[in-house]
Amino acid sequence: MTQKPSLSGVPLRELEIVLSPLPRYRAGQVFAWINSGLDSFQEMNNLPFALRRELDGRFSLRKTTLVKKFEDEGNLKLQIAVSGGMVEAVILVDRAGRRTACLSTQLGCAMGCVFCRTGLMGLVRNLDSAEITEQFYHIRKFYPDIANIVFMGMGEPLLNLYELRRALEVLCRTMSPRRITVSTCGLVDGIEGLASEGPSVRLAVSITTAREELRRRLMPVSAANPLPRLKEALLRHQAQQRRRITLEAVLLGGINGGAEDAAAMSAFAEGLDVVVNLIPWNRVEGLRFEGRPLKEPEAAEIERFRSGLERLGLKTVIRRKKGRGISGACGQLGSTVDKDFDVNGTDTVAR
Ligand code: SAH
Ligand code: SF4
Repeated sequence: MTQKPSLSGVPLRELEIVLSPLPRYRAGQVFAWINSGLDSFQEMNNLPFALRRELDGRFSLRKTTLVKKFEDEGNLKLQIAVSGGMVEAVILVDRAGRRTACLSTQLGCAMGCVFCRTGLMGLVRNLDSAEITEQFYHIRKFYPDIANIVFMGMGEPLLNLYELRRALEVLCRTMSPRRITVSTCGLVDGIEGLASEGPSVRLAVSITTAREELRRRLMPVSAANPLPRLKEALLRHQAQQRRRITLEAVLLGGINGGAEDAAAMSAFAEGLDVVVNLIPWNRVEGLRFEGRPLKEPEAAEIERFRSGLERLGLKTVIRRKKGRGISGACGQLGSTVDKDFDVNGTDTVAR
């Protein structure tokens, strides 16, 4: 049996075409239902019964399935089956109780950053817009009140720009673009592509270190996207968008938190409106850097780096350790074979 095409993740202007010759207001009604997270045509109670039946015969509203849910101190990780594998979406809660949905854009990642678990998987494939938006709809079944969306899950969003943009077009109708952040490892062309055609969401760049030579060893992507070019792209982005950019720096114990790194970061940030988000590295078993195992940074090291950056005039935030018990923290999203799941997962299946 061939699968019915899914209507989730289809932007309104496309839906109007898919559903023609139905009048446009009907497409608008269907779109609103889908984007509210509804997963059954039968419940679209402002459509005539016959139309609900017809749509149900032709289309589906889900192409992904929620498989497992893991919880840890209010944080939640969902494992979602997509064709060819499993993606993960995480809900993080901050001290004020606000919830952020962290979504994936690819199954795996081709970028090979040495500190990242998703990188270890390699790239399986891009997710399509339905597979991206459905992560959000699965999340909203548990938490209808999501305050922010960040694309910091599995994969490099800007290498999946077409489907990312379609997903953003849909999601921006339920959430202000100011509350959506796309995180990239620093792809210059992608940054320009996103800025030129919109929507104008916030940007986070995983700088890791502003020492070019070290960055190349940690993030192979930087060879083709050197820091001076990256900076030019960010300056242009900021001139266009007028929004503060986040520089994410995953702190690797004993590697990228020294005085030299602080000075390089400050030089890189000159002329940009940025905040540096320090992310203490989350342990991923088996990851090594030039033959040596990676280490989590010590509290004193984090503090020293932070105060060094602040002394140089940079704004910083330290990302609180969240979701570690569920392997749902940044860079810990990876393959389905995960020992932590059995130890810490509460193994609740939603449906
Ligand atoms: N590919 C994009 C978005 C996904 S990665 C990017 O690289 O920006 C999201 C963030 O997780 C990045 O800032 C990355 O540096 C960080 N990260 C990767 N592995 C990590 C780990 N093991 N511990 C903490 N942060 C990690
Ligand atoms: Fe890919 Fe981001 Fe992980 Fe690098 S940090 S391997 S770009 S997911």
